[in-house]
Amino acid sequence: MKYNFSNIKKAKKILDKKDCIAIPTETVYGLAANAYSDKAVKKIFKLKKRPHFNPLIVHYLDLEDLIKDCEINHNFIKLYKKFSPGPITYILNLKKNSKISKIVTNKQNTLAVRFPKHLITRKLLKDLDYPLAAPSANISTGVSSVCYRDVNDEFGKKLKFILDGGRSSIGLESTIISLVNKPKILRLGGLSLSKIKKVLNKKLIFKINSAKILSPGQMKLHYSPGLPIRLNVKKPKEKEAFILLKKNKKFTKNIYYLSKNGDLKEAAKNLYFTLRKIKKDKFDSIAVEKIRNLGIGKTINDRLLRASKFNG
Ligand code: AMP
Ligand code: MG
Repeated sequence: MKYNFSNIKKAKKILDKKDCIAIPTETVYGLAANAYSDKAVKKIFKLKKRPHFNPLIVHYLDLEDLIKDCEINHNFIKLYKKFSPGPITYILNLKKNSKISKIVTNKQNTLAVRFPKHLITRKLLKDLDYPLAAPSANISTGVSSVCYRDVNDEFGKKLKFILDGGRSSIGLESTIISLVNKPKILRLGGLSLSKIKKVLNKKLIFKINSAKILSPGQMKLHYSPGLPIRLNVKKPKEKEAFILLKKNKKFTKNIYYLSKNGDLKEAAKNLYFTLRKIKKDKFDSIAVEKIRNLGIGKTINDRLLRASKFNG
């Protein structure tokens, strides 16, 4: 996609006034504001209806900008060199003199940071003299946005500007790894664990809020289109939308494919898009066939499991 420089200028103007805009990234669209300003980041929480205790990811152009705010370490450098810019978020210690708003971190002394790859957003970050706090551009607990129209459907006129960068190429959120102590995975995401393991050359610790172990009402609902979802379905019910990984001649009615030939990356890119489409097509419920639990398939299954906690 070509740069639209006049749009980047407009985006900067609004951000400089401590307002929110939506930005494109390769994972999902972000709801962005100046991470150094209490006033600006408060608007993110309000627009998203996000609980104040859920901290935000801050987006930087590069290492040079990051070191103004965060302490870095050996593991970080290894991963940064290999995977950034890209779909990985690091938790690092904040520097004592960091200017990051306390509202971003909910007063913790650690910060979640990412370096987005999308060229339009990189150009924007280059033009700003502050980093951008940016959670996914959707109302809390809902499906993330992967294109201009999704963001518009979520916020409408409440949002002053959406910087259009086409469809997000990955379509799922970043993988989150804490590097404060021993490397610890906090969220599955767009970068597969095997790649991270290879670079760090050590076992990873996991502290993912399991969607499995809790009973339905207990599990915090997330990534939900607001419809009941059944997983690992072999035969859909009469009126259910049926999501398949790839074409299957056995089924002909109410079918949505995530990919042409079963490619998991293509499926990931299409997952949120498909969930929104089904809602727009006025189905009351969704069934999903079993998705291979491999590579980014693990992230797809994580999101579907959390979305399936919808009960009403
Ligand atoms: P979202 O912005 O919607 O992609 O979600 C960001 C995720 O990052 C949330 O699950 C937060 O809990 C997590 N997060 C942000 N900052 C921190 C932090 N300092 N420590 C641990 N997790 C964090
Ligand atoms: Mg989110």
